Amino acid sequence: MDAVTIKSRSSSFKTFLKLIPYILRKRKYFAIAVASMFLSSLLSVLIPSFTRVIIDEGISAGNFQVIPYYSALIIIVTALMSLLGYFERYASILFSQNVVFDLRNDVFKAIQRQSYAFFDEVPTGQLIARVTNDTDAMSRFLSFQLRSFINAITLTILAYVYMFQMNFKLSLLTMLILPVMIIVNLKYSSMIRPLYSTIRYQIGVLTSIVNSNLSGIKTVKALAIEDFELERFSRENDRLFELNVKAAKIRSIYGYCGRLILGLGMAFILLYGGYAIIGGEFTIGELTAFNSYLLMLMWPMRALGFFISGFQRSMTAAQRLFEIMERLPEVKEKPNAIELPPVKGEVKFEDVTFSYIKGKPVLKNISFKVNPGEKVVLLGPPGSGKSTLIRLIPRFYDPDRGRILIDNVDIRDVKLKSLRRQVAFVSQEPFLFSGTIKENIAFGQPDASMEDIIAAAKAAKIHDFIMTLPRKYDTVIGERGVTLSGGQRQRLAIARALLTNPRILILDDPTSNLDAETEKALVEDLKEVMKGRTTFIVTQRLSLVKLADKIIVLDDGQIVEMGTHEELMARRGLYAKMYSIMLEDQKKVSPVEMPIRGDSD
Ligand code: ADP
Repeated sequence: MDAVTIKSRSSSFKTFLKLIPYILRKRKYFAIAVASMFLSSLLSVLIPSFTRVIIDEGISAGNFQVIPYYSALIIIVTALMSLLGYFERYASILFSQNVVFDLRNDVFKAIQRQSYAFFDEVPTGQLIARVTNDTDAMSRFLSFQLRSFINAITLTILAYVYMFQMNFKLSLLTMLILPVMIIVNLKYSSMIRPLYSTIRYQIGVLTSIVNSNLSGIKTVKALAIEDFELERFSRENDRLFELNVKAAKIRSIYGYCGRLILGLGMAFILLYGGYAIIGGEFTIGELTAFNSYLLMLMWPMRALGFFISGFQRSMTAAQRLFEIMERLPEVKEKPNAIELPPVKGEVKFEDVTFSYIKGKPVLKNISFKVNPGEKVVLLGPPGSGKSTLIRLIPRFYDPDRGRILIDNVDIRDVKLKSLRRQVAFVSQEPFLFSGTIKENIAFGQPDASMEDIIAAAKAAKIHDFIMTLPRKYDTVIGERGVTLSGGQRQRLAIARALLTNPRILILDDPTSNLDAETEKALVEDLKEVMKGRTTFIVTQRLSLVKLADKIIVLDDGQIVEMGTHEELMARRGLYAKMYSIMLEDQKKVSPVEMPIRGDSD
């Protein structure tokens, strides 16, 4: 066993310790399962001893009364075992499902608690695989493997009690088989375990590909890159196939190895036992019983092997779940965080530097101040850091250096909920889920009143449209219902953002997916929406730039120009250059592709 194996075994054990509180919480079911199993093992070791009595004291001794009596006992014992088997299975399923239910809830809660950086780091496919496959693995472990392990141990002990009573020397000799079996199984598990974790990872990779392909299927079709996507999928699928074949190979080789060892053991017992019977030290009944016990032990020995490999595999799954649960979100709320009082909407960046990856800052020494109610447009080439900058205001990420103040309060000193109620963020592609319009607007604010919802919809100029729908605010949208246009989706997202009547509004490229007509109408209505709210807009569209009181031009993570349209035009710098490109673009009939249009997400 190498150092790595030992280390992983001890870490598996540590993980198991973390599971114990979950197990203890459901100890009632566990106790019923283990008690039924113990009784059932106790009964099952009786059967070979009954057989021995039938042979030795019935058949060989010519005492025929013994035979029906013990046969009847065997029937009763078997019936009782079936009944206990029912309790054992039922209780252990209840036990494992209950524990997994708690685990799943806790993992889901932990995922909700994470901040943005976590989701940058862990692809959605991996996350889905973790929550579904890993909890599945846990349920298998708890309902089957753990039970098998306890069963194997009790059965082995009980069988040996009877075997030692019958023949001490032979029992001792058969015990030699146990370490050989265990060594074979350990070798097996150390080979198969890393393979299993690679397989799991690979399943995650495939899920990620399918996920991103399906969510971007229209883009894939538009770019006609189906072949490229197919090739990528097929390559990863091949890898999964090879890994599975490799695992199957190892499984079959070691599976037969174990059987061979036991076969040799059986042959040895028959040989030794046969001579012992002839020598008068052993009876035929004893040999038969002995053989039955050895057959009975075959399964526990294999179960032990399964348990060892299963244990590590399950603990790897459990460890991944605990990793999520124990991970502290990057954006932490201070224990003494205060409620952000209702703000006027002044926003100040003080020498803010931020990086996604250590040592590679994407925002450098950003300082500016925005007065309450001012409209700020952020401009700059793709990748210059516009989207990143606005994500810092609702604290999706924390800066590495510097501070962000709202009404002179450092946003790291306030409760996240109170901050995000006053800073509304509308993303480029707003997320609408399958549900009613009402639910979509009140997303995250289940106690919002109908008046508030209607007021928000009116402000976002979507109310009139909603009223034309057959079920009005109760109309189901999304996969199961009415399909909305890009403009309607944006307006719904804006209504959602306005529900808490925030003083600060952030719009991340709100018109990027809209046609010229829709854009024009939305921009017109946005004027109304922005009234009295400090607004940050990331855009490449002239129509929105025109609304700005202040323009911030970013380049390579730094502010290169800042001021009003007139001031910046006079400088004849980057803004003036971008402005002329935007102007050109607006002249075109369809403003679909812009030369400076950024993939700001
Ligand atoms: P813009 O909005 O101006 O197009 P972004 O703020 O989106 O620019 O990106 C700025 C830089 O940060 C880019 O180099 C981009 O690749 C990088 N970046 C953006 N998001 C992430 C992320 N989640 N993880 C790592 N790097 C990122």
